[in-house]
Parts: sequence; C-alpha cells; structure tokens
Amino acid sequence: MDLKLNLFENAIDSLNEALQKYEEAKDGNKNAYKFCVQHLSHFLELLLKFQVSKAHELLIFKKPFQKRTEESSTINMQEAIQFLENDDKKISTQFKTDLKWLKSLRNKIEHYEFEVKIKQVDSVVGRLLHAALLFGEQHKLDLENLLDQRYLDLAKGYQKGVSAALKQAVEKEKYALTCLRPDEMQDMNFGPYCCNDCGYRTLIMFESGYRCEFCGGEEGDEMIVTCSECGGEGAFGEMSGWEPDIGPVEMRCSMCTGAYAMSRDNS
Ligand SMILES: [Zn+2]
Ligand SMILES: [Zn+2]
Repeated sequence: MDLKLNLFENAIDSLNEALQKYEEAKDGNKNAYKFCVQHLSHFLELLLKFQVSKAHELLIFKKPFQKRTEESSTINMQEAIQFLENDDKKISTQFKTDLKWLKSLRNKIEHYEFEVKIKQVDSVVGRLLHAALLFGEQHKLDLENLLDQRYLDLAKGYQKGVSAALKQAVEKEKYALTCLRPDEMQDMNFGPYCCNDCGYRTLIMFESGYRCEFCGGEEGDEMIVTCSECGGEGAFGEMSGWEPDIGPVEMRCSMCTGAYAMSRDNS
C-alpha cells in the first residue's frame, strides 16, 4: 500500500500529531514537547505553502520557470510569508514573531542541543495553535472541521486563559496605581510588563517583586529594579546580575559594573 498525502492533508496530519504530543506533554511527559515543536512547525510551514499554492501551485517551487523534477526545491516558510504579504494577505506581527521563535527552536532540536523553558514552549505553542485557527478562518481552510473537538477546546481554552490573565494584569496594575499620588506616578514606568517566560504583557508588581498573572514567572526585561550598589533604578534587562560570596544575586546598573564607561570609550 502506498502512502500519499496531498499538501493540505500532509499539513493536517502534522497538526493532529503536534496536538497529540502537546496533550502528552501537558499530561507530564515533558519530552513530548520536542516532537510537538517539530510537528507544529512542519504543519505551519505546509499550511503557509498551501496558501501560496492557491495562487498557483507552481509558486511553491523556488524556480517555477525551470523544468520541474522530483528534486525541485520548494520555498521556505519565510518566502511563503513574503509571498502572502506581497499578495496583500495579512499576517500578524505576533504570528511572524512566534513562527520565527518556533523555527529557531526546531533547528536547535534537529541540529544540536537545546534548552528551553517549558512555560515558554507552552505559551508559544498555544499561541501558534490559536493563530493557526484564526489563519484558517481568515482563509476559509475549514481547519475546525478537520480537527478533533478536544484539540479545538485545548486551543480555545488556552486563549481564554491568556485573555483572562491580560485583563487581570491590567486591572491589578490599575488598582496598585490608586495608592500613588499623581506626582509620584509621573516618573515611574508602569507595567504590566512583558514576562520573560511566557512573552505576554502580564507581569505585575507583587509584594516586593514581580509576578506574571499568566504563568507565574518572576522576571521581565522591562521591569524596574534597583541597583544594589548605587540605589538607582533601571530596567532589569539592562542590569547585570552579580553573585556575592554570601546572599542572593544582586543587580547592578551599567554605571556600577563599568559597562557604561566601556561602551562609551569604545564608541
Ligand atoms: Zn508569564
Ligand atoms: Zn548602580
């Protein structure tokens, strides 16, 4: 018996596989994330190519004007996105950013070693699933009817969780602001900040630090922290961690570490 799947069937097959792995991963089998990432990026690449092929099926080949053979190479994900954008098909910036992140993770998985925060994979996978469903809706691909209901629930439930966390983060931050006088508010940079773990703008002040409303992460490059040396305030992403012999890691600003002077002298 031969196995034959057309471009679209092949895409859906990979999506179902990705979702199955996602479910396994959620059930505690962490290694399943690896296969989920691989299948999902395969699905997305094929989905974008399929969309290109609707304009003309030869456009999925790198050299559509040359004689076609079994070895003719096809376009990559980036080229498919560029074609669709040139053809006035809208693709959101978030979708493109997530695709890029997923692709680089897949390359690492396939070619060397990788280390990634589970929360981050979780949120990007969820976000991409949701984006793929929206893309399917926009382009009338009928993905919803091709997928198992429990997978659809998974993607939708995920999005619901994100929306609730975003809303809560904004509300809690507003509540926190009511404790400040207007003149105090002027020179402060307020959140919610972008969480380094999940990538959502759901990081808010919590007790003496910060906490993400969505994933529980505690760090974000934009959050304001105090330099333990001079007491000045700055963005976390611009500070350097310094480990003293005893006690917790301290944060130091670029002035105190000398990084500021170094970059000034070199420029
Ligand atoms: Zn988070
Ligand atoms: Zn300092």
